[in-house]
Amino acid sequence: MSKLSYKELEKELIALKKIHIEASKNQEYEIFFDNMAEMVEVIELIYNKNDQPIDFYIRDINLSFAKFLGKPKEQLINKKGSSVIGKIEADWLSSVASVDKTGKQISFKNYSTEFDKYYYVTSWRVSKNRVGISFTDISKNDNYEIDKQKFNETVLDNIPADIAVFDINHNYLYVNPKGIRNVETRKWMIGKSDFDYCDLKNIDKSLAQGRRDVFNKVIQNKEQTDWLDKYHRDGKDFYIMRKFYPVFIDDIFHYVIGYGVDVSELKEAQHELNQLNKTLKESLEREKELNQLKTKFVSTASHEFRTPLSAINFAAGYIKRYGDKITPSVIKKKLHKIEDQVLHMTQLLDDMLIVGQAEAGKMRNNPVSINLGNFIYDIIEEVASSSKESHEIELIDIENLKSGGIFIDEKLGRNIFVNLLSNALKFSQEAKKVVVELSSEEKYTVISITDFGIGIPKSEFKSIFIPFNRGKNVDLIQGTGLGLSIVKEAVKSIKGKIIIKSSLGNGTTFIVKILNT
Ligand code: ADP
Repeated sequence: MSKLSYKELEKELIALKKIHIEASKNQEYEIFFDNMAEMVEVIELIYNKNDQPIDFYIRDINLSFAKFLGKPKEQLINKKGSSVIGKIEADWLSSVASVDKTGKQISFKNYSTEFDKYYYVTSWRVSKNRVGISFTDISKNDNYEIDKQKFNETVLDNIPADIAVFDINHNYLYVNPKGIRNVETRKWMIGKSDFDYCDLKNIDKSLAQGRRDVFNKVIQNKEQTDWLDKYHRDGKDFYIMRKFYPVFIDDIFHYVIGYGVDVSELKEAQHELNQLNKTLKESLEREKELNQLKTKFVSTASHEFRTPLSAINFAAGYIKRYGDKITPSVIKKKLHKIEDQVLHMTQLLDDMLIVGQAEAGKMRNNPVSINLGNFIYDIIEEVASSSKESHEIELIDIENLKSGGIFIDEKLGRNIFVNLLSNALKFSQEAKKVVVELSSEEKYTVISITDFGIGIPKSEFKSIFIPFNRGKNVDLIQGTGLGLSIVKEAVKSIKGKIIIKSSLGNGTTFIVKILNT
């Protein structure tokens, strides 16, 4: 068959068919009709009550169509379509019915999955209820090839990704509209390189060089390479995942396909997931630490309680057993011992409650503005009276800060300084003086407490803040090992800082920095 355009083909066919129908009695045309390469049939549509087409009768069919259906013409003519073809597609039937109804001829391309062939289908009205249909196999037609190319281009142009094809020299052979939006630039780009593009747009050539390096690598290694490009536009980060994919035909390098897809949402989701994972890990870690602490807490606490309880038990038993034989002063001494131990246990319980709260993150920080002088004098007074005025507590305030204010949660503040000051007195029993000093830094009010006592070994600067940990040099000085862990949590809650300066046998300074606002 000579190569005809669709239009020509269509015209010719219709003319032929019309002639055939009009002169169907004409032997000459009957021969012609049967020998046509195209498959032609005339059908009579069958409608239901609602005027919907449901089937058809084959009223005439040419030889090539009959051959295609694998039956002699006589066995097909006047047969119902459904009995010959099997399933008749409703779409197809309604298209043909529209030709019957409107008298308007239609032509369309149709792909038959059953035969893997493309057909050019033309349908026209012959008479009432009768419609002629021709099928021209265009699977091998050049026009169809052009269509295929068009189809490929349309697909590439509309793919939601940047697509570019490069020749062996890394010059553009194709770039789709997603890759370069501007039509003119896109056309201009063909045969050019990324360096030309950088020149055109007046952008740094490092972008082009980076791509060139990847390109060379892809050709050298004969395998695809992926990378991630990050852009910043309109205050947002964008991530494009890019690929260079080499195409070899019969082992000869042909071109490289460049592919880029926006993975910003994916990146964001990944980031969120990582963040979530981190938080989860942290809370798991914290949970683990808390559990370990609880175990340590229970065992240490029961041990800490056992000592005072057995002391109380011993003192009470002593009085019970020897009450009538001992002097009132000995009884008084024993009762004092009991009182001391009860006090110690109460302190232990209080401290444990606070540590428990801190560990559970329940230490609330509600800072208020208070007078620094009042705050610090109250604490000094309380500690001095409970230590029975064992030391002179000197307040140094060169900058006269005590008349000013401090912004702190009162309860947390008291927890910090009562503990530090009590420790200063407790661990400097040989000394007579403890110094409290007020000073200021740019963002902080600084309160330091200095004693001239036993000091803290440098190796223990960290461990003494862990609940129940006590220094190796405390000997018989009583304590629970909870005070500094309370101080640490309270300082953390008020977003302050704590620093230790100490030298063994000479004394210790605890420096606490409190944010001004
Ligand atoms: P406690 O005072 O009940 O032992 P703390 O938690 O308050 O518990 O202190 C922990 C440890 O830190 C103490 O046992 C001691 O070894 C050391 N420490 C704290 N303050 C001082 C200080 N002013 N001088 C020397 N050592 C101190």
